[in-house]
Amino acid sequence: MRHFVLIQYDVTAMKRSESALHRLAHYDALTGLPNRVLLHERLLTAIGAADSGLWLVYLDLDRFKLVNDTLGHRAGDVLLKEIARRLRRAVRPTDTVARLGGDEFVLMFPDMPDEAHMVQAAQRVLDVIAQPLLIDGHEFFPTCSMGAAGYPQDGADQDALMRHADIAMYRAKEAGRNNCQFYASSMNQRMLERLHLEGELRHALERDEFVLHYQPQVELASGRTVGLEALVRWNHPKLGMVPPDRFIGLAEETGLIVAIGAWVMRSACAQNMAWQRAGLPRLRVAVNLSARQFNDRQLIDTVKAVLAETGLPAGDLDIELTESSLMADVDGAVATMHELKALGVQLSIDDFGTGYSSLAYLKRFPIDVLKIDKSFVRDIVASPDDAAIAVSIILLAHTLKLHVIAEGVETAEQLDFLREHGCDDVQGYYLSRPLPAEAVETLL
Ligand code: C2E
Ligand code: CA
Ligand code: CA
Repeated sequence: MRHFVLIQYDVTAMKRSESALHRLAHYDALTGLPNRVLLHERLLTAIGAADSGLWLVYLDLDRFKLVNDTLGHRAGDVLLKEIARRLRRAVRPTDTVARLGGDEFVLMFPDMPDEAHMVQAAQRVLDVIAQPLLIDGHEFFPTCSMGAAGYPQDGADQDALMRHADIAMYRAKEAGRNNCQFYASSMNQRMLERLHLEGELRHALERDEFVLHYQPQVELASGRTVGLEALVRWNHPKLGMVPPDRFIGLAEETGLIVAIGAWVMRSACAQNMAWQRAGLPRLRVAVNLSARQFNDRQLIDTVKAVLAETGLPAGDLDIELTESSLMADVDGAVATMHELKALGVQLSIDDFGTGYSSLAYLKRFPIDVLKIDKSFVRDIVASPDDAAIAVSIILLAHTLKLHVIAEGVETAEQLDFLREHGCDDVQGYYLSRPLPAEAVETLL
Protein backbone atom coordinates (compact mmCIF):
# COMPACT_ATOMS: atom_id res chain seq x y z
CA MET A 1 0.00 0.00 0.00
CA ARG A 2 1.40 3.26 -0.96
CA HIS A 3 0.54 6.56 0.50
CA PHE A 4 0.74 9.69 -1.45
CA VAL A 5 1.00 12.87 0.41
CA LEU A 6 0.18 15.78 -1.65
CA ILE A 7 1.44 19.07 -0.43
CA GLN A 8 0.82 22.20 -2.29
CA TYR A 9 2.91 25.17 -1.39
CA ASP A 10 1.49 28.57 -1.96
CA VAL A 11 4.59 30.35 -3.08
CA THR A 12 3.10 33.84 -3.23
CA ALA A 13 1.78 33.59 0.30
CA MET A 14 5.18 32.53 1.55
CA LYS A 15 6.89 35.36 -0.28
CA ARG A 16 4.38 37.71 1.27
CA SER A 17 4.98 36.53 4.80
CA GLU A 18 8.71 36.54 4.21
CA SER A 19 8.62 40.20 3.25
CA ALA A 20 6.25 40.91 6.14
CA LEU A 21 8.87 39.41 8.44
CA HIS A 22 11.55 41.51 6.84
CA ARG A 23 9.45 44.60 7.36
CA LEU A 24 8.84 43.73 10.98
CA ALA A 25 12.52 43.27 11.60
CA HIS A 26 13.65 46.43 9.82
CA TYR A 27 10.86 48.97 10.10
CA ASP A 28 9.08 50.71 12.89
CA ALA A 29 5.44 49.63 12.98
CA LEU A 30 3.97 52.97 14.03
CA THR A 31 5.67 55.32 11.60
CA GLY A 32 6.91 52.97 8.88
CA LEU A 33 10.40 54.45 9.27
CA PRO A 34 13.54 52.31 9.32
CA ASN A 35 14.24 51.01 12.84
CA ARG A 36 17.50 50.67 14.72
CA VAL A 37 18.46 47.46 12.91
CA LEU A 38 18.10 48.91 9.44
CA LEU A 39 19.77 52.14 10.53
CA HIS A 40 22.81 50.18 11.68
CA GLU A 41 22.95 48.28 8.40
CA ARG A 42 22.79 51.46 6.40
CA LEU A 43 25.28 53.22 8.64
CA LEU A 44 27.78 50.38 8.18
CA THR A 45 27.40 50.57 4.42
CA ALA A 46 27.71 54.35 4.47
CA ILE A 47 30.87 54.25 6.61
CA GLY A 48 32.34 51.73 4.19
CA ALA A 49 31.60 53.97 1.25
CA ALA A 50 32.44 57.39 2.65
CA ASP A 51 35.73 59.04 3.51
CA SER A 52 33.92 62.18 4.60
CA GLY A 53 30.64 64.01 4.28
CA LEU A 54 28.69 61.49 6.36
CA TRP A 55 26.69 62.97 9.25
CA LEU A 56 24.56 61.42 11.93
CA VAL A 57 21.98 63.46 13.79
CA TYR A 58 20.23 62.42 16.97
CA LEU A 59 16.83 64.02 17.34
CA ASP A 60 14.60 64.05 20.38
CA LEU A 61 11.24 65.79 20.62
CA ASP A 62 10.99 68.42 23.34
CA ARG A 63 8.36 67.80 26.03
CA PHE A 64 6.89 64.76 24.30
CA LYS A 65 6.07 63.21 27.65
CA LEU A 66 3.73 66.09 28.35
CA VAL A 67 1.64 65.25 25.28
CA ASN A 68 1.45 61.60 26.24
CA ASP A 69 0.58 62.36 29.84
CA THR A 70 -2.03 64.98 29.18
CA LEU A 71 -3.69 63.77 25.98
CA GLY A 72 -2.97 60.08 26.11
CA HIS A 73 -1.02 57.66 23.97
CA ARG A 74 -3.28 57.90 20.99
CA ALA A 75 -2.53 61.61 20.65
CA GLY A 76 1.14 60.82 21.20
CA ASP A 77 1.01 58.35 18.30
CA VAL A 78 -0.63 60.90 16.02
CA LEU A 79 2.12 63.36 16.87
CA LEU A 80 4.88 60.83 16.22
CA LYS A 81 3.43 59.89 12.84
CA GLU A 82 3.21 63.52 11.84
CA ILE A 83 6.79 64.18 12.98
CA ALA A 84 7.94 61.17 10.93
CA ARG A 85 6.17 62.57 7.87
CA ARG A 86 7.75 66.00 8.38
CA LEU A 87 11.22 64.58 8.82
CA ARG A 88 10.92 62.60 5.59
CA ARG A 89 9.90 65.74 3.80
CA ALA A 90 12.76 67.78 5.27
CA VAL A 91 15.52 65.50 3.96
CA ARG A 92 16.49 64.11 0.58
CA PRO A 93 15.43 60.63 -0.58
CA THR A 94 19.00 59.37 -0.20
CA ASP A 95 19.08 60.38 3.47
CA THR A 96 17.77 58.05 6.16
CA VAL A 97 15.23 58.94 8.83
CA ALA A 98 15.03 56.22 11.47
CA ARG A 99 13.01 55.89 14.66
CA LEU A 100 14.79 54.30 17.57
CA GLY A 101 11.72 54.19 19.78
CA GLY A 102 9.73 56.63 21.89
CA ASP A 103 10.33 60.12 20.61
CA GLU A 104 13.88 59.41 19.50
CA PHE A 105 14.83 59.66 15.86
CA VAL A 106 18.12 59.48 14.01
CA LEU A 107 18.86 61.12 10.71
CA MET A 108 21.69 59.97 8.49
CA PHE A 109 23.07 62.19 5.76
CA PRO A 110 25.48 60.16 3.63
CA ASP A 111 26.95 62.91 1.47
CA MET A 112 27.01 66.45 2.83
CA PRO A 113 29.34 68.67 0.80
CA ASP A 114 30.51 70.48 3.95
CA GLU A 115 29.67 71.54 7.48
CA ALA A 116 27.85 74.66 6.32
CA HIS A 117 25.38 72.48 4.42
CA MET A 118 24.88 70.37 7.51
CA VAL A 119 24.06 73.55 9.43
CA GLN A 120 21.46 74.45 6.81
CA ALA A 121 19.96 70.97 6.79
CA ALA A 122 19.65 71.10 10.58
CA GLN A 123 17.91 74.44 10.36
CA ARG A 124 15.49 73.04 7.81
CA VAL A 125 14.59 70.22 10.16
CA LEU A 126 14.09 72.63 13.09
CA ASP A 127 11.81 74.70 10.89
CA VAL A 128 9.56 71.89 9.64
CA ILE A 129 9.20 70.40 13.11
CA ALA A 130 8.22 73.78 14.52
CA GLN A 131 5.13 74.15 12.33
CA PRO A 132 2.08 74.21 14.61
CA LEU A 133 -0.26 71.23 14.47
CA LEU A 134 -3.75 70.36 15.67
CA ILE A 135 -4.47 67.17 17.61
CA ASP A 136 -7.98 66.60 18.97
CA GLY A 137 -8.64 70.29 18.75
CA HIS A 138 -5.49 71.19 20.71
CA GLU A 139 -2.87 73.30 19.04
CA PHE A 140 0.72 72.09 19.44
CA PHE A 141 3.97 73.84 18.80
CA PRO A 142 6.35 70.91 18.60
CA THR A 143 10.09 71.52 18.80
CA CYS A 144 13.03 69.18 18.93
CA SER A 145 16.62 69.07 20.13
CA MET A 146 19.29 67.69 17.84
CA GLY A 147 22.91 66.63 18.08
CA ALA A 148 25.14 66.14 15.05
CA ALA A 149 28.32 64.12 14.64
CA GLY A 150 30.33 63.83 11.42
CA TYR A 151 32.38 60.95 10.10
CA PRO A 152 35.29 60.52 10.54
CA GLN A 153 36.18 63.64 12.54
CA ASP A 154 33.71 62.99 15.37
CA GLY A 155 33.90 59.19 15.53
CA ALA A 156 35.65 56.49 13.53
CA ASP A 157 32.96 53.81 13.79
CA GLN A 158 29.21 53.58 14.09
CA ASP A 159 29.13 53.23 17.87
CA ALA A 160 31.28 56.29 18.42
CA LEU A 161 29.21 58.31 15.97
CA MET A 162 25.93 57.33 17.63
CA ARG A 163 27.29 58.05 21.09
CA HIS A 164 28.68 61.44 20.15
CA ALA A 165 25.56 62.56 18.30
CA ASP A 166 23.62 61.57 21.43
CA ILE A 167 25.94 63.62 23.67
CA ALA A 168 25.58 66.62 21.37
CA MET A 169 21.80 66.20 21.54
CA TYR A 170 21.92 66.44 25.34
CA ARG A 171 23.88 69.64 25.00
CA ALA A 172 21.10 70.95 22.76
CA LYS A 173 18.59 70.16 25.53
CA GLU A 174 20.77 71.99 28.04
CA ALA A 175 21.12 74.93 25.70
CA GLY A 176 17.37 75.49 26.01
CA ARG A 177 15.92 73.01 23.48
CA ASN A 178 14.76 73.75 19.93
CA ASN A 179 18.31 73.86 18.56
CA CYS A 180 21.04 71.70 17.10
CA GLN A 181 24.47 71.22 18.68
CA PHE A 182 27.49 69.85 16.89
CA TYR A 183 29.72 67.37 18.67
CA ALA A 184 33.01 68.64 17.28
CA SER A 185 34.68 71.08 19.60
CA SER A 186 36.24 72.45 16.43
CA MET A 187 32.81 73.48 15.21
CA ASN A 188 33.41 77.15 15.20
CA GLN A 189 31.45 79.34 17.50
CA ARG A 190 30.43 81.81 14.83
CA MET A 191 28.67 79.08 12.89
CA LEU A 192 26.65 78.11 15.93
CA GLU A 193 25.77 81.68 16.73
CA ARG A 194 24.77 82.08 13.12
CA LEU A 195 22.59 79.02 13.15
CA HIS A 196 20.93 80.29 16.29
CA LEU A 197 20.49 83.84 15.02
CA GLU A 198 19.20 82.64 11.69
CA GLY A 199 16.51 80.55 13.34
CA GLU A 200 15.54 83.48 15.53
CA LEU A 201 15.58 85.87 12.60
CA ARG A 202 13.13 83.68 10.71
CA HIS A 203 10.59 84.15 13.47
CA ALA A 204 11.30 87.77 14.27
CA LEU A 205 8.78 89.11 11.76
CA GLU A 206 5.92 86.88 12.96
CA ARG A 207 6.74 87.74 16.54
CA ASP A 208 6.75 91.41 15.70
CA GLU A 209 10.24 91.95 17.09
CA PHE A 210 11.42 94.63 14.68
CA VAL A 211 11.14 98.31 15.49
CA LEU A 212 12.06 101.41 13.56
CA HIS A 213 14.05 104.33 14.88
CA TYR A 214 14.12 107.57 12.96
CA GLN A 215 17.04 109.95 12.53
CA PRO A 216 16.27 113.56 11.55
CA GLN A 217 17.76 115.09 8.42
CA VAL A 218 18.14 118.82 8.79
CA GLU A 219 18.27 121.49 6.09
CA LEU A 220 21.31 123.68 6.77
CA ALA A 221 19.89 126.89 5.34
CA SER A 222 16.74 126.91 7.43
CA GLY A 223 17.61 124.61 10.34
CA ARG A 224 14.35 122.77 9.69
CA THR A 225 13.97 119.00 9.88
CA VAL A 226 13.05 117.98 6.34
CA GLY A 227 13.37 114.24 6.52
CA LEU A 228 13.74 111.18 8.73
CA GLU A 229 15.82 108.12 7.97
CA ALA A 230 14.13 104.93 9.14
CA LEU A 231 16.67 102.56 10.72
CA VAL A 232 15.60 99.09 11.71
CA ARG A 233 16.37 97.49 15.10
CA TRP A 234 15.67 94.00 16.26
CA ASN A 235 14.21 93.93 19.74
CA HIS A 236 15.07 90.36 20.72
CA PRO A 237 13.50 89.04 23.96
CA LYS A 238 16.83 87.67 25.23
CA LEU A 239 19.52 89.52 23.28
CA GLY A 240 17.98 92.96 23.69
CA MET A 241 18.25 95.57 20.93
CA VAL A 242 20.27 93.99 18.15
CA PRO A 243 21.87 96.60 15.87
CA PRO A 244 21.36 96.16 12.11
CA ASP A 245 25.05 95.47 11.50
CA ARG A 246 24.59 92.17 13.29
CA PHE A 247 21.66 90.87 11.28
CA ILE A 248 21.25 92.72 7.97
CA GLY A 249 24.09 90.71 6.40
CA LEU A 250 22.55 87.45 7.55
CA ALA A 251 19.12 88.57 6.36
CA GLU A 252 20.68 89.33 2.98
CA GLU A 253 22.33 85.92 2.66
CA THR A 254 19.19 84.05 3.62
CA GLY A 255 16.86 86.20 1.52
CA LEU A 256 14.86 87.18 4.61
CA ILE A 257 15.76 90.79 3.88
CA VAL A 258 13.04 90.94 1.22
CA ALA A 259 10.27 90.35 3.75
CA ILE A 260 11.96 92.43 6.46
CA GLY A 261 12.57 95.28 4.01
CA ALA A 262 8.93 95.26 2.90
CA TRP A 263 7.91 95.49 6.54
CA VAL A 264 10.30 98.42 7.08
CA MET A 265 8.91 100.27 4.07
CA ARG A 266 5.29 99.66 5.05
CA SER A 267 5.84 100.69 8.68
CA ALA A 268 7.87 103.79 7.82
CA CYS A 269 5.28 105.00 5.30
CA ALA A 270 2.37 104.27 7.64
CA GLN A 271 4.14 106.14 10.46
CA ASN A 272 4.88 109.14 8.25
CA MET A 273 1.26 109.25 7.11
CA ALA A 274 0.05 109.03 10.72
CA TRP A 275 2.26 112.01 11.65
CA GLN A 276 0.99 114.02 8.71
CA ARG A 277 -2.63 113.24 9.61
CA ALA A 278 -1.90 114.32 13.19
CA GLY A 279 -0.94 117.73 11.83
CA LEU A 280 2.83 117.50 12.27
CA PRO A 281 5.01 119.25 9.68
CA ARG A 282 5.22 117.37 6.40
CA LEU A 283 8.41 115.35 6.07
CA ARG A 284 10.02 112.82 3.80
CA VAL A 285 10.87 109.39 5.19
CA ALA A 286 13.99 107.62 3.93
CA VAL A 287 14.17 103.84 3.75
CA ASN A 288 17.29 101.77 3.11
CA LEU A 289 17.10 99.17 0.37
CA SER A 290 19.57 96.31 0.24
CA ALA A 291 20.92 94.84 -3.00
CA ARG A 292 18.79 91.77 -2.71
CA GLN A 293 15.62 93.83 -2.31
CA PHE A 294 16.57 96.10 -5.18
CA ASN A 295 16.99 93.08 -7.46
CA ASP A 296 13.82 91.40 -6.28
CA ARG A 297 11.18 91.21 -9.00
CA GLN A 298 8.42 92.14 -6.59
CA LEU A 299 10.06 95.45 -5.66
CA ILE A 300 7.96 97.75 -7.84
CA ASP A 301 4.74 96.01 -6.83
CA THR A 302 5.70 96.20 -3.17
CA VAL A 303 6.40 99.94 -3.33
CA LYS A 304 3.16 100.54 -5.24
CA ALA A 305 1.15 98.50 -2.74
CA VAL A 306 2.74 100.25 0.25
CA LEU A 307 1.94 103.69 -1.16
CA ALA A 308 -1.62 102.68 -1.99
CA GLU A 309 -2.25 101.04 1.39
CA THR A 310 -0.78 103.80 3.50
CA GLY A 311 -1.96 106.70 1.36
CA LEU A 312 1.44 108.40 1.62
CA PRO A 313 2.20 110.76 -1.29
CA ALA A 314 4.99 109.09 -3.30
CA GLY A 315 7.15 112.22 -3.07
CA ASP A 316 7.34 111.76 0.70
CA LEU A 317 9.18 108.46 0.35
CA ASP A 318 12.92 108.45 -0.25
CA ILE A 319 14.66 105.21 -1.18
CA GLU A 320 18.35 104.91 -0.28
CA LEU A 321 20.38 102.70 -2.59
CA THR A 322 24.04 101.81 -2.41
CA GLU A 323 26.30 101.87 -5.43
CA SER A 324 27.18 98.23 -4.98
CA SER A 325 23.57 97.16 -5.54
CA LEU A 326 23.54 99.11 -8.79
CA MET A 327 26.86 98.11 -10.33
CA ALA A 328 26.31 94.37 -10.81
CA ASP A 329 23.93 95.01 -13.69
CA VAL A 330 23.98 98.68 -14.59
CA ASP A 331 21.40 98.50 -17.41
CA GLY A 332 18.96 96.52 -15.27
CA ALA A 333 19.52 98.93 -12.39
CA VAL A 334 18.86 101.98 -14.55
CA ALA A 335 15.61 100.39 -15.77
CA THR A 336 14.47 99.59 -12.21
CA MET A 337 15.35 103.11 -11.06
CA HIS A 338 13.25 104.60 -13.86
CA GLU A 339 10.32 102.42 -12.80
CA LEU A 340 10.72 103.69 -9.23
CA LYS A 341 10.97 107.29 -10.40
CA ALA A 342 7.81 106.80 -12.45
CA LEU A 343 5.99 106.04 -9.20
CA GLY A 344 7.10 109.45 -7.93
CA VAL A 345 9.48 108.43 -5.12
CA GLN A 346 12.80 110.13 -4.44
CA LEU A 347 16.04 108.18 -4.96
CA SER A 348 19.27 108.66 -2.99
CA ILE A 349 22.69 107.09 -3.28
CA ASP A 350 23.82 106.08 0.21
CA ASP A 351 27.43 105.81 1.43
CA PHE A 352 28.59 107.80 -1.57
CA GLY A 353 32.34 107.88 -2.05
CA THR A 354 33.01 104.41 -0.68
CA GLY A 355 32.17 102.53 -3.87
CA TYR A 356 32.77 103.06 -7.56
CA SER A 357 31.62 106.65 -7.60
CA SER A 358 32.01 106.70 -11.35
CA LEU A 359 30.82 109.88 -12.96
CA ALA A 360 29.95 108.05 -16.19
CA TYR A 361 27.47 105.83 -14.36
CA LEU A 362 26.21 108.51 -12.09
CA LYS A 363 25.02 110.51 -15.09
CA ARG A 364 22.86 107.59 -16.21
CA PHE A 365 21.16 107.13 -12.85
CA PRO A 366 17.87 109.00 -12.41
CA ILE A 367 18.64 109.99 -8.82
CA ASP A 368 17.88 113.01 -6.65
CA VAL A 369 20.33 112.91 -3.76
CA LEU A 370 23.91 111.96 -2.93
CA LYS A 371 24.70 111.05 0.68
CA ILE A 372 28.30 111.69 1.67
CA ASP A 373 29.44 108.66 3.64
CA LYS A 374 30.11 109.18 7.33
CA SER A 375 33.70 107.94 7.01
CA PHE A 376 34.62 111.15 5.14
CA VAL A 377 32.70 113.36 7.52
CA ARG A 378 34.47 111.87 10.53
CA ASP A 379 37.87 113.33 9.61
CA ILE A 380 36.65 116.20 7.53
CA VAL A 381 38.34 118.76 9.77
CA ALA A 382 41.56 116.90 10.50
CA SER A 383 42.30 115.18 7.21
CA PRO A 384 42.84 117.30 4.09
CA ASP A 385 42.17 114.24 1.92
CA ASP A 386 38.77 113.58 3.43
CA ALA A 387 37.96 117.27 3.30
CA ALA A 388 38.85 117.31 -0.41
CA ILE A 389 36.68 114.28 -1.10
CA ALA A 390 33.71 115.78 0.73
CA VAL A 391 34.10 119.07 -1.12
CA SER A 392 34.32 117.34 -4.49
CA ILE A 393 31.20 115.29 -3.76
CA ILE A 394 29.31 118.49 -2.97
CA LEU A 395 30.54 120.07 -6.20
CA LEU A 396 29.81 116.96 -8.22
CA ALA A 397 26.29 116.73 -6.83
CA HIS A 398 25.53 120.35 -7.60
CA THR A 399 26.98 120.08 -11.09
CA LEU A 400 24.61 117.16 -11.72
CA LYS A 401 21.77 119.19 -10.16
CA LEU A 402 21.51 116.77 -7.26
CA HIS A 403 20.83 117.47 -3.62
CA VAL A 404 23.64 116.53 -1.20
CA ILE A 405 23.41 115.41 2.40
CA ALA A 406 26.23 114.56 4.80
CA GLU A 407 25.71 111.78 7.35
CA GLY A 408 27.56 111.09 10.59
CA VAL A 409 27.91 114.74 11.63
CA GLU A 410 29.06 114.63 15.26
CA THR A 411 30.58 118.06 15.96
CA ALA A 412 29.94 121.75 15.44
CA GLU A 413 33.22 122.00 13.49
CA GLN A 414 32.08 119.39 11.00
CA LEU A 415 28.78 121.18 10.64
CA ASP A 416 30.49 124.53 10.01
CA PHE A 417 32.78 123.02 7.41
CA LEU A 418 29.86 121.48 5.54
CA ARG A 419 27.86 124.71 5.67
CA GLU A 420 30.81 126.69 4.35
CA HIS A 421 31.16 124.36 1.39
CA GLY A 422 27.51 124.47 0.41
CA CYS A 423 26.25 121.10 1.64
CA ASP A 424 22.42 121.14 1.59
CA ASP A 425 21.39 118.86 4.46
CA VAL A 426 23.02 117.14 7.41
CA GLN A 427 22.30 114.14 9.58
CA GLY A 428 24.18 112.87 12.61
CA TYR A 429 24.50 112.55 16.38
CA TYR A 430 25.31 116.26 16.67
CA LEU A 431 21.75 117.01 15.57
CA SER A 432 20.05 113.92 16.92
CA ARG A 433 20.58 110.23 17.40
CA PRO A 434 18.08 107.89 15.76
CA LEU A 435 14.95 108.08 17.95
CA PRO A 436 11.96 105.87 18.66
CA ALA A 437 8.71 107.10 17.06
CA GLU A 438 7.33 108.64 20.28
CA ALA A 439 10.47 110.72 20.75
CA VAL A 440 10.21 111.98 17.18
CA GLU A 441 6.76 113.38 17.90
CA THR A 442 8.11 115.36 20.86
CA LEU A 443 10.99 116.63 18.74
CA LEU A 444 8.70 117.82 15.97
P1 C2E B 1 23.40 103.60 7.00
O1 C2E B 1 22.32 103.53 5.99
O2 C2E B 1 24.70 104.24 6.59
O3 C2E B 1 22.78 104.30 8.28
C1 C2E B 1 23.43 105.27 9.03
C2 C2E B 1 24.04 104.66 10.25
O4 C2E B 1 24.87 105.63 10.87
C3 C2E B 1 23.02 104.26 11.29
O5 C2E B 1 23.50 103.13 11.96
C4 C2E B 1 23.05 105.45 12.24
O6 C2E B 1 22.61 105.13 13.53
C5 C2E B 1 24.50 105.78 12.21
N1 C2E B 1 24.76 107.16 12.57
C6 C2E B 1 23.93 108.21 12.46
N2 C2E B 1 24.51 109.36 12.88
C7 C2E B 1 25.75 109.03 13.28
C8 C2E B 1 26.84 109.77 13.81
O7 C2E B 1 26.81 110.98 14.01
N3 C2E B 1 27.99 109.09 14.06
C9 C2E B 1 28.09 107.77 13.85
N4 C2E B 1 29.25 107.18 14.14
N5 C2E B 1 27.08 107.02 13.34
C10 C2E B 1 25.92 107.65 13.06
P2 C2E B 1 22.61 101.89 12.22
O8 C2E B 1 21.24 102.33 12.61
O9 C2E B 1 23.37 101.01 13.15
O10 C2E B 1 22.51 101.22 10.82
C11 C2E B 1 23.61 100.64 10.23
C12 C2E B 1 23.34 100.20 8.82
O11 C2E B 1 22.38 99.18 8.77
C13 C2E B 1 22.74 101.33 7.99
O12 C2E B 1 23.78 102.16 7.54
C14 C2E B 1 22.11 100.54 6.86
O13 C2E B 1 23.05 100.20 5.90
C15 C2E B 1 21.67 99.30 7.56
N6 C2E B 1 20.22 99.38 7.82
C16 C2E B 1 19.56 99.98 8.83
N7 C2E B 1 18.24 99.83 8.69
C17 C2E B 1 18.05 99.14 7.53
C18 C2E B 1 16.90 98.68 6.83
O14 C2E B 1 15.74 98.89 7.22
N8 C2E B 1 17.11 97.99 5.68
C19 C2E B 1 18.38 97.76 5.20
N9 C2E B 1 18.51 97.09 4.06
N10 C2E B 1 19.47 98.19 5.83
C20 C2E B 1 19.31 98.88 6.99
CA1 CA C 1 21.19 104.90 4.90
CA1 CA D 1 25.01 105.67 4.98
